[in-house]
Parts: sequence; C-alpha cells; structure tokens
Amino acid sequence: MNPNSNQLHFILIPLLAQGHMIPMIDIAYRLAEQHKVVSLVTTPLNAARNSESIQRAAESGLQIRVIQIPFECRKVGLPEGCENLDIIPSCDLIRNFYKAMHEMQRPLEEKLQKLSPPASCIISDKCVSWTSQTAEKFKIPRIVFHGMSCFSLLASHNIKLHNAHLAVASSTEPFSVPGMPYDIQIAKQQLPGSFVALPDLEDIRDQMQEAESSAFGVVVNTFSDLEHQCIDYYKKAINKRVWCTGPVSLCHKETKNKFVRGNKASISDANCLEWLNNIKPRSAIYVCLGSQCRLITSQLIELALGLEASNHPFIWAIKTGESKFEDRVKERGLLIKGWAPQMLILSHPSTRGFLTHCGWNSTIESISCGIPMITWPQFAEQFLNEKQVVEVLKIGVRVGVDIPVRFGDEEKVGALVNRHDITSAVNILMDEGEEAEKRRKRAKRLEEMAKKAVTAGGSSENDLSLLIQDIG
Ligand code: UDP
Repeated sequence: MNPNSNQLHFILIPLLAQGHMIPMIDIAYRLAEQHKVVSLVTTPLNAARNSESIQRAAESGLQIRVIQIPFECRKVGLPEGCENLDIIPSCDLIRNFYKAMHEMQRPLEEKLQKLSPPASCIISDKCVSWTSQTAEKFKIPRIVFHGMSCFSLLASHNIKLHNAHLAVASSTEPFSVPGMPYDIQIAKQQLPGSFVALPDLEDIRDQMQEAESSAFGVVVNTFSDLEHQCIDYYKKAINKRVWCTGPVSLCHKETKNKFVRGNKASISDANCLEWLNNIKPRSAIYVCLGSQCRLITSQLIELALGLEASNHPFIWAIKTGESKFEDRVKERGLLIKGWAPQMLILSHPSTRGFLTHCGWNSTIESISCGIPMITWPQFAEQFLNEKQVVEVLKIGVRVGVDIPVRFGDEEKVGALVNRHDITSAVNILMDEGEEAEKRRKRAKRLEEMAKKAVTAGGSSENDLSLLIQDIG
C-alpha cells in the first residue's frame, strides 16, 4: 500500500436526491472511520439539511468536509431554491435540474485545484456524468455509485444487453430476465425508468452510460450474504471492480445520529421515542413511501382507511396533501407530516413491519434492522427490489401492485391500492401464525448477517479496505 495512503482524499459527488445523497453521506462516514479525508460536494440547501449529521461526524473526530457550490437555479430556469429532486415541482424541469448540476463542474474544479490533501479519487453518482471529465483532468480514478442492489444492477444490465424486453408482445406480459442465477420474471411496464423512452432525456442518459464505461469500478450499498451469486455475476458482466460495502446505514449507532440523518425531521426525537416506547414491543407497522413518491388524495384515503381497519399501531410518514386523519388516528397511529427519522424508527424494538415503496435504501435499511416488509413499488427499479424481497429473500408480502406510477402520471394512473388490500397485507405481515413467524425469522437472520458484514472481518468491511487499497 502507498505509504501516504492515510492522506487519501475521497471526493464524494452525489446526485441531489435524498435516496442518493443519504447513502453517500453514510459512505463518507464509513471512509472517514477508516481515517480517510472525505469531501462531500453539495449545494447550500442540501448542506443545511445535513449540517447536523456532518457536525456530529466532526465531533466524533471524523474528517468529513463539505465543498459547497451554488446551484444556479435562475440561470437554468428552475424555481429559486430547487436544489433537490424531492422539491422539483414538475417532471418537465428534470432536464433543467441536470443542467444546474452540470453548472457545478467549473466551480468544483477550481476548488479541487487548491485542495489539501489533493483529491485521490472521485466517487460520484452514476447520474453525474461530467465527473468523469473532472477525474480525467485531475488524473484520478472515478468510482460510480448507483444506489441500487447487485440483483437489480445485474437484472437491468442483462435485460438491456439481450433486449429481453423487446421480445414480448405487450408491456404487461412477464418475461424471464436473462443471465440471472435463478428464474426471475418481470413485465416491461415494471422496468426501471431507463427502459422508458424519454426523448427529452436520451442524450443525458447516453452521457451517463458513456461515463460509466470508463469508470474504475462500482461501489454498491449491499452485502455479500444478501446477494448470493449476483455480485460475482455482476462483476463478470461489467468486467470491473465492484465493492459491496453495505448496509452503509449501520454506520449510525447512536440514536441522535439516526435521528438527524438526511433532513430535519418533522417530529422531535423525544416525541417519536415517547410514542414508540409506549407501545408493546414489536407491535407497530411503519409506513413510508420514500422521499419522491407523491400519493394523490384518493390513494391517501384508501391507505388511511386500510391502516385504521388493520387494528395495529402504526407510524405513517406522509409527504403530500393535508391529512385530516390526525384526530381520528391518534389512539393508535402517529402521523409524521414531512420527514420521518426512518433509521430511528426501523431500529426501535417496537417496530414489527415496514410498508415500503421498495426504494433500495429503505429496503436495505429494513433488512439491516431485521424488519419484514409490505412491498408497494412505485417506479424506478422498485419492482425489481420487490422481486428480491418477496421471491428471493422471502421477507415480504406484496400489496399487489403491478403498474408503475411515474413522476407526473399520478393523477392519470389514479389510486391502485384499495383499503382492503392494505388491511389484508398488514394483517398477513403482522400475524402470529407460522408463515409470518418464518418470515420474521428470515428477516432476523439477515439482520445478523448484515451486522456481521460491517464488523471487522466481515465481507463489507473487507471490501471497504480493498477499495481503499485499490486507490492507495
Ligand atoms: N427517508 C427518511 N425519512 C423519510 C423519507 C425517507 O429518513 O421520511 C430516507 C430513508 O431512510 C432512505 C431515503 O430517505 O435512506 C429514501 O431512499 P429510498 O431509496 O428508499 O427511496 P427514494 O426516496 O429514493 O424513492
């Protein structure tokens, strides 16, 4: 290893979206715990959202710095302050958002010139393709982060390679995903957004693809025991280094660190803990559909009525609409309007199940806490994640959705899940019966494996050391 490897300086450049930034900040923690210097590149609004988390890292001696670059909203035609994809008002503005991210390149490169210690490596989101030019200019490697599992990365790669989705007669007809270690069937309509033709974004996607092909390797938020052979298959498929260093969320051990993760929570830690501490152990269902999903009112009502009828205590993080359910549910439910401290809730002993949209972060966070899931995929690679959770890992119950709801289509698609679907899935998951117990045991076993992976000698810990060695 290079004798100066303690001076390694990792530059982390996430896409400005919660599901991409949060795991990148966790990766920053993991690298800083290995005594590496880490700089996180972000904008003022995103820096403010994460200031407490970064502050706490500093207090515990971790060298995580923030490189703040202004986000040129006005210049590219975005509303002022629109610095994260979770607040972008319409899907027509996604192109402008990428433009604004591209505007960060020049000021960042100016800052990198003066950096001490100098940058050794860029870890950037797959979506931030210009970082490959920056890496080239500074003669340093660029590592790509997707925010997906190896299972989904492999499936997406193979479908594209063989054009398997083009051989079916309709978008609802399931087909077998080629080149997987086991049979997985999916319909074309359930594939990630990259399979959907979007003329306006095609050039941006091509740039991402091109940048990825020249990358040094890929870092994945997963762990070996979770993915079976998918990691090896994926390494062979892309012919690059792949380091699996997750679950990265397990870097937060203290309650306060879990609480401040990602954004300012819309509830105090004291109130949240008081509610959780006052119910029976392993009794609550946590409901949260991620940071991007925008449920329409009629769907919210069905979800609320379904939860009410299930008769289990619930915590519901609600992002859209005015909910009038507060008074009605206060006996049994806790409503968090806005940002919920998800890791704090999932790791609390009162939580028994998680109704999730199957974003990969939520999925692996649930796994890392031993919590079985109700799966309600919405878009992106979430239907693939559902397959992994329900069919491969057997720790989930489907709510029964087959159709995606992509950004901008919410009203057109309408409510897909009725109250009875919700009640029935909650009751199946929370049940005391044999099937439900087996599911819980499998989830518990995965939690143990996850925790082992990130302790000394574990697979993710070893991969992290390997990554550092490969750069040093
Ligand atoms: N999250 C949270 N509180 C919320 C909503 C989301 O802490 O109220 C976090 C969650 O723990 C996860 C991330 O935001 O780390 C969401 O990522 P995911 O991939 O699950 O879904 P996305 O938001 O990208 O659809």
